[in-house]
Amino acid sequence: MIVVLSKGISPHDKEIVGGFLRDRGFSVREQALGDDQFISASGKGSADIGELTLLPGVERVAATSKPYELASRETRAEDTIVTVGGYDSIPAVSVGGSRISIIAGPCAVESREQILETAYRVRESGAVILRGGAFKPRTSPYAFQGLGMKGLEFMKAAGETCGMPIVTEVVSPELADQMKDLTDMFQIGARNMQNFELLKRVGAIGKPVLLKRGPSATIEEWLLSAEYLLASGTRDVVLCERGIRTFETYTRNTLDISAIPVVKGLSHLPVIVDPSHAVGIRAKVTPAALAAVAAGADGLTVEVHPRPDEALSDGPQSLYPEQFERLLRDIEALAPVVGKELLRTPLPHQHSGRKEGIVFLSSAAEPVPSPGAVSAPVAFSGESGAFAELALMRAFGEEVPRLSCPGFGAVFDAVLDGSAAAGVVPVENSLAGSIHENYDLFLRYPDVAIVGELKLRIVHCLIGDEKAELDSIRVVRSHPQGFIQCREFLDKHPEWHPEPYYNTAAAVASILRESGDRTRVAAIAGEAAATAHGLKVLKTGIETNPLNYTRFVIITRRVGYDISGRMGCDTFRRQETGRAPVPPSLGSDKPNKASLVFSVSDEPGSLFACLKILSERGINLSKLESRPIQGQPWRYLFYVDVSIPDKPELFDAAMDELKTKSEDFHSLGIYRASL
Ligand code: PEP
Ligand code: MN
Repeated sequence: MIVVLSKGISPHDKEIVGGFLRDRGFSVREQALGDDQFISASGKGSADIGELTLLPGVERVAATSKPYELASRETRAEDTIVTVGGYDSIPAVSVGGSRISIIAGPCAVESREQILETAYRVRESGAVILRGGAFKPRTSPYAFQGLGMKGLEFMKAAGETCGMPIVTEVVSPELADQMKDLTDMFQIGARNMQNFELLKRVGAIGKPVLLKRGPSATIEEWLLSAEYLLASGTRDVVLCERGIRTFETYTRNTLDISAIPVVKGLSHLPVIVDPSHAVGIRAKVTPAALAAVAAGADGLTVEVHPRPDEALSDGPQSLYPEQFERLLRDIEALAPVVGKELLRTPLPHQHSGRKEGIVFLSSAAEPVPSPGAVSAPVAFSGESGAFAELALMRAFGEEVPRLSCPGFGAVFDAVLDGSAAAGVVPVENSLAGSIHENYDLFLRYPDVAIVGELKLRIVHCLIGDEKAELDSIRVVRSHPQGFIQCREFLDKHPEWHPEPYYNTAAAVASILRESGDRTRVAAIAGEAAATAHGLKVLKTGIETNPLNYTRFVIITRRVGYDISGRMGCDTFRRQETGRAPVPPSLGSDKPNKASLVFSVSDEPGSLFACLKILSERGINLSKLESRPIQGQPWRYLFYVDVSIPDKPELFDAAMDELKTKSEDFHSLGIYRASL
């Protein structure tokens, strides 16, 4: 049994809880996971749980049925998010929650140049942590054993140059002490998973640990090894499935995909996958990696080498940098299907453009504030569990303070008056089309600009009271978008009366305020809204087509805005360089998309002339939408999304010309497109 103690419990109250348990025949052990404190009670005692729960400082009592306690979800229900790095020039990287965090690098550090070149290549493609072995546990004593501490120094320097924390394997307790100031995360290799003295020493250091699953370890043995680390003092453990030994010989090991959902159910710790050591064959690494992401992995660790044929270890399973880049693009596209976002962190700013022979293609933009920099809340429209709140957390992380607003206009107000650092609003849905209210708000709030976008997969649920059944329902509430996106499902229930609400989660919350028979009302919203308000999901996946995505934009108060309401090209650049808080996951790359608004004169070919300016310069048009101009019947504004070509001069020239050929030209913002 685990007694979860309240934060800030006094030593006196803790003593009373311990005494209560000891008096009733339990052996008692005090435990901690970071700031969370627990008392573990074992043995043949018996106690009245109700009485125990009423003691001061007791938050809840969990009956643990597992031999591991601190690693168990019974002890801690929420996902643990492990932070690696986050000092000086090294961005903080979160592993766990709704992100997919990618670790990449060579099997072994071979030279200063090799690790730097690899670091640069994987960083450009989107890796956020650098891996590499300095001490290599090789099956043969005659194989390359690694460069030792020198290799670790090379790797740390490469991580600093490229803005990446590093992870490296530690093979003995003595080395753990020597390595602790150089590495950001320790890796416990598969062969050492049950080296308990090593686990205890590494756990006591308190730094994040990547714990590989042993080649013959059961899931329970693996979680007990994690327990050793947690019980020794660290709270930051990431589990890594890397293939287990089976009778199959074609692949190096057998990737146990099912371990991912199983472990995620049993433990709150993040789980990542190493497809390289699991399959051992370069051509099979990508499909295994994608399968891991689809199964819910929180990240990957992948071996990449600039010239795998020359690698001193594990060349045959190392990806070429180009293959790795392609893999990350595929993961970015796959992530929304499993409700996640590929984590990006800011690239180091290179004033001179060149450093140690390395040029970051994205160095044109100003540095982007790191996650901790967003201290004011981020605003969204709706109540807890709204899709916009999920999008917001995807972009800024679960920890960011959030401001719930009673409508889209209130989000714009909060951004403008500074009560929110940024806002997140939907602009279009792949089934139901544009959210016109927000397009119109951009015109009413010219001081607000788009600084990022992200797409969220929308899975709708029918949500009701605990006792509600499909047959008891008479009224269904949702945002009008919810009704449109679930049209086919609703058509099967013509007896249900639709009641529109300003937000899907608000429709769910309204069920709780219902004075009459609660089983008559249901709401259409996401599962998160049901969880947030303690209601039941009656049916899930009721949207007409599973390919249902909503595009959200991140808005902030404009910097460098030209008060006339017209944006010239200079102002474009000012906006680019003076960007206000851009979400860390979205702002790391050079902007490649712009959203514009203009009208045209009432004469033949005027719209064509404007679009021709774009096409002549190879500027791709991804969206064109017209909206009536209020107070000017039969005149329209055109909302246009365009790509920014690699040569920004082309874009600037196009904008200059568009300004002269169009009327009422505005830029809504330039930002990085999401896939
Ligand atoms: C490694 O990651 O380089 C490694 C040796 O992996 P494992 O311990 O999983 O074999
Ligand atoms: Mn290897």
